[in-house]
Amino acid sequence: MSEENEVREVAIIGSGPAGLTAAVYAARADLHPIMIEGMEAGGQLMLTTEVENYPGFVDGIMGPELMTTMRKQAERFGTEYLTDNVTEVDFSARPFTVKTSDREIKAKSIIISTGASARMLNVPGERELLGHGVSTCATCDGFFFRDKELIVVGGGDSAMEEATFLTKFATKVTVVHRRDALRASKIMQDRALANEKIEFKWNAVVSEVYGDGKVAGVKLTDTATGEVSDFPTDGVFVAIGHDPNTKLFEGKLDLAEGYIKTAGETTATSVPGVFAAGDVVDFRYRQAVTAAGMGCMAAIDAERWLEANH
Ligand code: NAP
Repeated sequence: MSEENEVREVAIIGSGPAGLTAAVYAARADLHPIMIEGMEAGGQLMLTTEVENYPGFVDGIMGPELMTTMRKQAERFGTEYLTDNVTEVDFSARPFTVKTSDREIKAKSIIISTGASARMLNVPGERELLGHGVSTCATCDGFFFRDKELIVVGGGDSAMEEATFLTKFATKVTVVHRRDALRASKIMQDRALANEKIEFKWNAVVSEVYGDGKVAGVKLTDTATGEVSDFPTDGVFVAIGHDPNTKLFEGKLDLAEGYIKTAGETTATSVPGVFAAGDVVDFRYRQAVTAAGMGCMAAIDAERWLEANH
């Protein structure tokens, strides 16, 4: 066990694929990382079912199992875990300080991999059927909906992109939007509006998702009249945006639209010695494998920085 007042080489905040990959690399570089894994360890993959696009698993792997495996791998090389939420960070002086409810960790370098959370509708049935017809990622789950009918909720670029992508598999995609005008950029709108497999339900919100073990349909509420109607569907893709988990870092690191800004093609943040990787930085790709790749980059960046700044 580490001493309470020991200064660590690296502390990793967040335990999704980015953080755990950073931990594997940092541990194998003999940096003895400590990972503050949060009370909901494992990140978004803990909420998914089958993952078929993570390289190395011919038959796919369940999201939670993938995360448990990565955690064991990082542990094997000496990663120490602290299962608690970070309550405060101080990056104004070195060594940096990371506080949890009952501990204070000092570290020479920090890797932030706190991820992002997909916004949810918070309506009955949505959570229960997540991974069973409800999804927040078309790239991840579209493949499971070949020859099915789907709905996509949202009116922004994500919703247009997901709807367009899903027409590769689905026979029909209905975009449900709460207003009568899209927020998406013109080019994305035009592409979706011209796609003959895409239909639009304007002024409508999904007020309930139902199905016995898998999605069978939704209840739609008309935002103008309040009228409720039944809409059978095989799947619901919620595409109403993401929230990066950066509350702790406001005013302490440079952020752009809530995401941590990194310099050029590195994982360096605006504070030297603090690095960031995964969905907390990346609003574009948002894949487990890209997060893992960035986690590797962050560990290498931290290792080189420590070497140069000892
Ligand atoms: P967004 O632009 O914030 O759009 C969210 C959409 O969901 C809006 O249409 C909003 O409706 C709707 N919405 C929000 N909360 C809702 C709720 N509770 N119930 C029903 N509908 C709800 O988010 P985004 O589409 O994820 O895009 C985020 C950023 O990434 C944007 O800057 C976007 O341009 C960028 N992006 C770019 C690309 C690309 O260029 N390839 C692809 C994806 C995303 P209202 O319109 O009524 O507010």
